[in-house]
Amino acid sequence: MAPERLIVVGGDAAGMSAASQAKRRRPDLEIVVFEKSTHVSYSA
Ligand SMILES: Cc1cc2nc3c(=O)[nH]c(=O)nc-3n(C[C@H](O)[C@H](O)[C@H](O)COP(=O)(O)OP(=O)(O)OC[C@H]3O[C@@H](n4cnc5c(N)ncnc54)[C@H](O)[C@@H]3O)c2cc1C
Repeated sequence: MAPERLIVVGGDAAGMSAASQAKRRRPDLEIVVFEKSTHVSYSA
């Protein structure tokens, strides 16, 4: 069975915080972040 996937739109503060929190709580999730610019936040 394919892993559950969480899609996050936006890789700045809110998006990367949500993605990292979700991964801490659910390490089994596959998480994909879409960011329209060339950089994502690295301190979330
Ligand atoms: C001039 C200015 C100075 C600031 N200075 C400070 C400061 O000194 N300290 C502080 O703590 N806060 C500061 N802030 C506030 C801080 O920038 C915001 O609170 C924070 O960036 C909000 O993050 P966010 O993830 O909610 O939204 P955003 O930063 O708006 O992030 C949204 C992200 O989603 C991406 N995105 C949008 N649409 C799409 C799409 N369709 N597909 C893919 N990606 C998409 C954008 O490219 C962006 O990266 C400042 C804000 C401004 C405007």
